[in-house]
Amino acid sequence: MLKLELLQAIGSSYYLSGKLSVGVYLNEANRTAVLIDSGPNAGIAKALDRLLRNMGYRVSAIINTHAHVQQYGGNHYLQENYPDLRVYSSELSAPFIQYPWLSHSYGAAETLLLEEEKVKRQVVVTDIISYEDGAIQIDGATFAIVTLPGHSPDMIGVITPDNILYGSDALFGKQTLLRQKLLYYSDIKGARATFNKLSASAVSSYVFNHGGYCTDISELVHDHLERLEQCLQDVEAIIRANAMTYEQIVKEVLLHYEIEDNSTAYMAISSIVRALLSELKRTKKIDCFVEKGQLVIEQSNVAPRTI
Ligand SMILES: [Zn+2]
Repeated sequence: MLKLELLQAIGSSYYLSGKLSVGVYLNEANRTAVLIDSGPNAGIAKALDRLLRNMGYRVSAIINTHAHVQQYGGNHYLQENYPDLRVYSSELSAPFIQYPWLSHSYGAAETLLLEEEKVKRQVVVTDIISYEDGAIQIDGATFAIVTLPGHSPDMIGVITPDNILYGSDALFGKQTLLRQKLLYYSDIKGARATFNKLSASAVSSYVFNHGGYCTDISELVHDHLERLEQCLQDVEAIIRANAMTYEQIVKEVLLHYEIEDNSTAYMAISSIVRALLSELKRTKKIDCFVEKGQLVIEQSNVAPRTI
């Protein structure tokens, strides 16, 4: 197994090495650690906890940035090992972190691919953060909360006392951009606004879940904007060729980007396509209607036609 390390960003602000840069703020005054997300599973949370204990710290709080399992998968392990642990999340994320099966109720047919949860692990969110920019105090340290919608509607970022913005999944690192053509955003308009907000933020540097530490995000933001625009154009071109159903569009996108057949990729791409279609609809590039029991999507300003 890959040996995980705690990497220092600035001052008391750290992040975990490896695939996901879990955020850590070490409060030296009382030897407590505040985590920004808890990692994707109990194994990572356990490894991180061991690192912290070896350094003489105990975990006192987790701030969950949004309700994706990669961010809250370690909560259960830590909550079992620290009975007085505080778990913070936005008011929108809290129910999905506490009851992950709720997300099965949303989305389209692709949710049929989800396995029924065999073990319902109880995770408790102890502190709700209202969905607005503000500040919270934990163990005497002040953390600024910034709303970052786009990747998911409930996402927040956290600025530590070292003036570093932990931006969660608002931007992806260069390696991810090279590996993935399609980026996971549920709200394209929100994502663009968040990119601007991140760029305008008066912080010294950033840490992103997929990408780690960086001091200058201007090139990254430019690449994200360009990538989103390209994806919108690709989907629009698919629809321009033929009016088609949502599932046909998902299929064409999977083929266009040469994405392999598996249920995880299918569900992720389905969500991404839905977001891209919503943006094309919002900007009046496409229309949709129901015909013969099918949801048909077509380019705007053309006479309805049968698929
Ligand atoms: Zn996410």
